[in-house]
Amino acid sequence: MAVPQNRTTKSRRNMRRSHDALVAGNPQECSNCGELKRAHHVCPSCGHYAAREVVAIATVDLDEDAA
Ligand SMILES: [Zn+2]
Repeated sequence: MAVPQNRTTKSRRNMRRSHDALVAGNPQECSNCGELKRAHHVCPSCGHYAAREVVAIATVDLDEDAA
């Protein structure tokens, strides 16, 4: 098994990890409802893509199921 010849210093380890930070996405406004959504993805709040509905959003009424 390969074993490192030299100990990685805190400085070198941290320099390597300086590029590891997660970067937030760049959300776009939905052209139908105005909610922020991921670019090139179906809007999760209204189900529209390219100004037409492609996924029907179901509305669940929890009170009717309680009885
Ligand atoms: Zn939308």
